[in-house]
Amino acid sequence: MDYSAKISHQVANIPRSGIRDFFELVQGRDDVISLGVGEPDFATPWHIREAAIYSLEKGHTSYTSNLGLLRLRKEISRYVRDFFHIDYTPDSEVLVTVGVSEAIDLALRALLNPGDEVIFHSPCYVSYLPSISLAYGVPVDVPTRKADDFALRASMLEAAITSKSRVLMLNFPTNPTGAVMPLEELEKIAALCIQHDLIVISDEIYCELRYNDGEHVSIASLPGMQERTILLHGFSKAFAMTGFRLGYACAPAPLIEAMMKIHQYAMLCAPITSQAAALEALEHGEAAMTKMRDSYHHRRDYMVGRLNDMGLDCHSPGGAFYVFPDIRKSGLTSKDFAMQLLSAEDVAAVPGDAFGEAGEGFLRCCYATSLEEIKTAMNRMERFVGTL
Ligand code: PLP
Repeated sequence: MDYSAKISHQVANIPRSGIRDFFELVQGRDDVISLGVGEPDFATPWHIREAAIYSLEKGHTSYTSNLGLLRLRKEISRYVRDFFHIDYTPDSEVLVTVGVSEAIDLALRALLNPGDEVIFHSPCYVSYLPSISLAYGVPVDVPTRKADDFALRASMLEAAITSKSRVLMLNFPTNPTGAVMPLEELEKIAALCIQHDLIVISDEIYCELRYNDGEHVSIASLPGMQERTILLHGFSKAFAMTGFRLGYACAPAPLIEAMMKIHQYAMLCAPITSQAAALEALEHGEAAMTKMRDSYHHRRDYMVGRLNDMGLDCHSPGGAFYVFPDIRKSGLTSKDFAMQLLSAEDVAAVPGDAFGEAGEGFLRCCYATSLEEIKTAMNRMERFVGTL
């Protein structure tokens, strides 16, 4: 059968993830050090795993409310108040989802009509562009630049706004650049959103992983912004819980209700075992999370130092667990650099163009891997750069 004629045009037209293509080459090769996958090398802290085990032992194996366990939503509301200084009502303004991934999809599908424009900054997380297309939106990307440490410039955003702009997607700290936003620039962006009546989807999944001075500020906490922001957060990164697949959205009740309508039919609810684990993470997980963050901080400093020493210009990103060195001096494209590094030295890092055209000339190296492996990877990379 010719299946190509059976598959939706919308799906056929979205590209496969550039990360996935690259990592299929690495599959099953034990000799390769991977700086590629954006996933903590730590196992989920033991007390959180234990909470999941106890929940199963007690026979808690049912569905939960579509919105998620009320106890968890109350705890999310408490956490968000303490961390972001924003108040959300657990009854109607918090939705527990299957990772931030599901929440992104729900938010876009709840907001967009066909042809609505969605602005996002790039290089960016690989799912944004296809998720917008799958929701029948029109993706409009605004490049960020090394000269700005990959923060989004309000002036660049303003130039991209048209009468069809409906949504702005933000992700700070950013995957893949580790960028954070200066407060003055974030305030200017908030003013533009109010002026042009944009809804913001703010993916703050890396917000705990900040290393420089200054606390994380969510755009939702700025004056006039809570009513027009869907704040997304989850447990995958800071609590090392990728496999639990748990995230959440906080937003005004009508927006959560719209997202919940899709969630209840597509997913019904997030898994109860993961919700029990998430509750434990929020109630007692801070010490373990701080320890992991301190370790990432140390690894970031080491990696940035080594990359600059070997002649690859690399800014020190304020958050997440990625560095984004400039490889343009090598004269190679991102893809050629990554492929040659892999074949010559068995080190895998992701070509920057996998995150959009603005990433060309850069390489994403994830430092959520052991310091020992990072040291070996940097030694190998230095040898490779020396041959160019
Ligand atoms: N958002 C960003 C910016 C990410 O980097 C990732 C994962 O890498 C996700 C969302 C997906 O998160 P989750 O595991 O909660 O679905």
